[in-house]
Amino acid sequence: MTKDLERELNEYLDTLKDKGLNKEERILNTPQSGEIEVNDGKKVINFCANNYLGLSNNKEVIEASKEALDRWGYGLSSVRFICGTQQIHKDLEAKMSSFLKTDDTILFSSCFDANGALFEPLLKKEDAIISDELNHASIIDGVRLCKAQRFRYKHSNMKDLERCLIESKDCRRKLIATDGVFSMDGDIAKLKEIVQLANKYDALVMVDDSHASGYIGKTGRGTCEYCGVEVDLISTTFGKALGGASGGCISGKQCLIDLFREHARPYLFSNTLAPAIAGGTIKVLELIEKENPYRIKTLENAKYFRSKMEEAGFDLVKGDTAIVPVMLYNEVTAVKMAEKLLDEGVYVIGFCYPVVPLNKARIRVQLSAVHTKEHLDRAIKAFIKIGKEMKII
Ligand SMILES: *Cc1c(COP(=O)(O)O)cnc(C)c1O
Repeated sequence: MTKDLERELNEYLDTLKDKGLNKEERILNTPQSGEIEVNDGKKVINFCANNYLGLSNNKEVIEASKEALDRWGYGLSSVRFICGTQQIHKDLEAKMSSFLKTDDTILFSSCFDANGALFEPLLKKEDAIISDELNHASIIDGVRLCKAQRFRYKHSNMKDLERCLIESKDCRRKLIATDGVFSMDGDIAKLKEIVQLANKYDALVMVDDSHASGYIGKTGRGTCEYCGVEVDLISTTFGKALGGASGGCISGKQCLIDLFREHARPYLFSNTLAPAIAGGTIKVLELIEKENPYRIKTLENAKYFRSKMEEAGFDLVKGDTAIVPVMLYNEVTAVKMAEKLLDEGVYVIGFCYPVVPLNKARIRVQLSAVHTKEHLDRAIKAFIKIGKEMKII
């Protein structure tokens, strides 16, 4: 590396720091949970993990993962199609298909990889991908990897989606791609209308249910269950509600999953999911496929937190998920408030442009089944104290 380039990069990194835009990673001394200890020994209540069902540190999941480790070994050192498929991988795929009520499921190292795999095998330059403007980065990158024509509609705007469908009507194949739950507002995609429009214009639908699988819908099967529809493809992660380790999948119609097994590059050229993760995720699905008491707790917690915060006068984005955005609009206010809340033992993050639109800064609170009423009351009290101090309420 030349001295010039090194200097240039360091100067860039320094300006990020000067503007307070660099990412400082906070080190945790404990497993993920409702209450965690951060590296200065401070205990805080955690409201910024995607641990919706509270299973990230569940005893039965850990035990199942250990058993898988003992039975199947540490790793496969191979991609699936060479010598990287064990019965436990087929079992997880079958379990996921039965949970999502689909034909088949294909595993990936992450949902980011699943979305990287999803578009290119199916869509060529004579085809069209129609995307919600607020889709997750992994969908955007997956779309970039394929040569299909790109259309983008305003967030959850069905008129604008229809415009895209009309503009792309001469394309051979059309696919509408959307997040199921959008991470920054916690709102749910209008899947009923999307599927109706897809049927009208002969398009496929894919939903990324990473923020929904496990707790949205009557039995936690996700946004399709919530909206009462079926779609062609669902991608999702095991790294959020479904245990929180890592890994992801695409689930859907047999011919589509078969096509991905043949041609999806992150499947063909990347290592198998570790057996310990497959074993843990199977246990998560066993725990939630019958009763799913965790889901009820998560949603009760979200409802309680919402109602108390509204009562206190905070401006929240309305919704039915466990993502509760507390709107502050001003970027400095959002960051300051999050810092002050941390001093009060409440771990939340302020989100600013470009992660959210300009002047729409907020603190995103994520509720979990591991939160106790005492956790919630402590957090609400801290929000009210700091909110008054900063003249927000
Ligand atoms: C978190 C998330 C992903 C990435 O999942 P990983 O398994 O962590 O790679 C993909 N899509 C959406 C919508 C997400 O929220």
